[in-house]
Formats: sequence, structure tokens, C-alpha cells
Amino acid sequence: MATKRDYYEVLGVSKNATPEEIKKAYRKLAIQYHPDKNPNNKEAEEKFKEAAEAYEVLSDPEKRARYDQFGHAGTSDIGGQYTYADPYDIFERFKDIFGFDTGFNFGGGSRTSKGSNLRVRIKVTLDEIINGTEKKIKIKRAVLAKGVNFTTCRICNGTGRVYRVQNTIFGAMRTESICGHCQGTGKTASSIPPGVGPDGLERKEEVVTIQIPPGAVAGMQLQMRGKGNEPPGGGTPGDLIVVIDEVEHDKFKREGLNLHYELYVSIPDAVLGSQVEIPYFGNKLRIKIDPGTQSGKILRLKGKGIPDVNGYEKGDLLIHVNVWIPKKLSSEQQRIMQSWANDPNFTPSPTSADKTFFERVKEMFS
Ligand SMILES: [Zn+2]
Repeated sequence: MATKRDYYEVLGVSKNATPEEIKKAYRKLAIQYHPDKNPNNKEAEEKFKEAAEAYEVLSDPEKRARYDQFGHAGTSDIGGQYTYADPYDIFERFKDIFGFDTGFNFGGGSRTSKGSNLRVRIKVTLDEIINGTEKKIKIKRAVLAKGVNFTTCRICNGTGRVYRVQNTIFGAMRTESICGHCQGTGKTASSIPPGVGPDGLERKEEVVTIQIPPGAVAGMQLQMRGKGNEPPGGGTPGDLIVVIDEVEHDKFKREGLNLHYELYVSIPDAVLGSQVEIPYFGNKLRIKIDPGTQSGKILRLKGKGIPDVNGYEKGDLLIHVNVWIPKKLSSEQQRIMQSWANDPNFTPSPTSADKTFFERVKEMFS
């Protein structure tokens, strides 16, 4: 890129020009180099953008002060935002100084009509999330009704766009907008069967199949292209956006990729050791309980958590062991318990190996 010209030089004003002089100078240049007056003139377009950039800085007292002190370097950190790729942006930006709302669309590409998007929420269970699943849901989408005839829109002659001539400071200018009569489709429904809206659309029930990826997360959006509403008069249908809602599991708690499970074991199982089975999403997992397992112990089963929806990683299953204490005892059991009350073997004496709950939790998440 060529070296930047001095902003004052660009606008043709002196260094101590008043804000009013700067504004006037810019308006003059903007009119002179306006793209509509200089079609296919790259040089004019560059001059037009250059003037806008100079005005953006010099019309702002703070930016002007920085520019006066440091030159272009003083605005370089914010310089990126002054580069206008599209002259239309300049009008948006300086609407106020031109004194009218510009509806310009410089060489804008043709607008293809696209239908609106449909959004649905879908409830998925943890079982479905673990392995991924296919779900069928019923949606109601706007589709072109049978028997509707479309004719070319008489307002825009089928172009979907309307033009009007506006008198502006640039002289008479052609502005362009979407045809309101046909909503840009270029077509209007001429024969409409009963029960069908004036746009020729009817809401039809449809069953769509959605793939729920393994590891799906609540709030995740799945986009199904072309399964949204059709636009009036035909064209590309919008998309169907499926938002994931997760149903809470009654046994497993999800925490990121990890799963937590509260396991209750009997006193004999905790004291003598045992094998227990827990349900695991249609399967069973065998859990080994070591003799002398303390209540509060956390067993970690690597890779038994939730798969990462974006990768190959899998979370862990953390089993929290709780020793179940019976509330009522038979007189026989009571007698035995009583006999152990002063037994030193039953006196709590935690060693450093029996980490506190908080230490263990810390370890789990480190
Ligand atoms: Zn039209």
C-alpha cells in the first residue's frame, strides 16, 4: 500500500481548520467522488474512501488530537476500522452528515429469496447422549400449497427489487430496496385454495430424523439445511435449528465430561469387601469394593464418562462410596454392636492415607 497522505491534505484544509470547515470539505469530496457519479472508477472510489478515513479521524476531537501529536502512528492502533471495504458502509457511518438515509446498494449481488428458519427444542436423555442416537421429531413447516399459481409480481416485474429516485445532495439518486409486495420473490400467488395464506404457503406436518451426536451438550444447536420454511413463491427453504435439551438422569449426574454416581454399600460389604453391580446405560458395571472401604471414598473408572462431542476424549465415571447405616437393628444386632462399642478396632483413627473429603475432591479435579 502506498504511503498514507496527510489527512488535512486529503480534505484540503489547514491544520487549524474548524470542525465546520472539516465537515464542509468532506461533504464536497464525498459528492465529487461518489461511486454513483463515478461508476467503475477505481481511483474515485479510493479517493472517496480516503476522504472518509480522514474525516473519521479529524471530526473526532480526541482522535484529531492524537493525530496532530503522533501523525498516522497515533491512529494506527485503531486504524483498521477506518478501512472501508464497501463504500456503502461509509454512508451508514456518516448518515448524519449527508442528512438522509441512504438506501444504496452499490453493485449488490442479487438477493435470492430464502425461507425463514425453524427452531425446535428436543429433549435427550443421558442414555442417548452417551452413545449418540437418531431421533424422529414432528415439525410444522411452511411449504408451498398445492394448487397455488404464481404470477410475476406486477410491482417489481419479477425482479424482487424496487427502485426509486430520491433527490439528495448528490443530485437525483437511484435507491433500491426489496419489493414489499412479493417480499423479494418476484412472484405473487394468484389462485389460492381455501385454507392457504395469501403467500401461498401452508403449514405442513413433517417427520424429520435428527442425528444426536455422542456427547451432545445442552444448548447445542444442530442445523439441518433446507428443513425450515419455504419462501413464498418458491426458492431455497430456510434451515431447521434443533436445540438440545438434556433430561436429568435419576442416577448419574453429569459434570462436563465426567459422570458422578452415588453408590451405597452395606456395612458388611464395606468391612469385608465385595463385588457390586451398578446399572450403566443398558449394561451393568461390576465394581470391586476392597475390604475396609471408608464411606466417602471415590472410585474413578477411566473412560466411563461422556465422550467429547468434538474429539476422541472420554470423561471418567466417579463413584462416590457411601456406607449404609441401618436405622433399626434387631435386639441381636444391637447386642453385637454394643459389644463392639469399646473395641479399639472400631475406634476411628484416620491416618494420612485416609485423606479428608476436601483433599480427595481436590485431587479429582486437579
Ligand atoms: Zn415484487
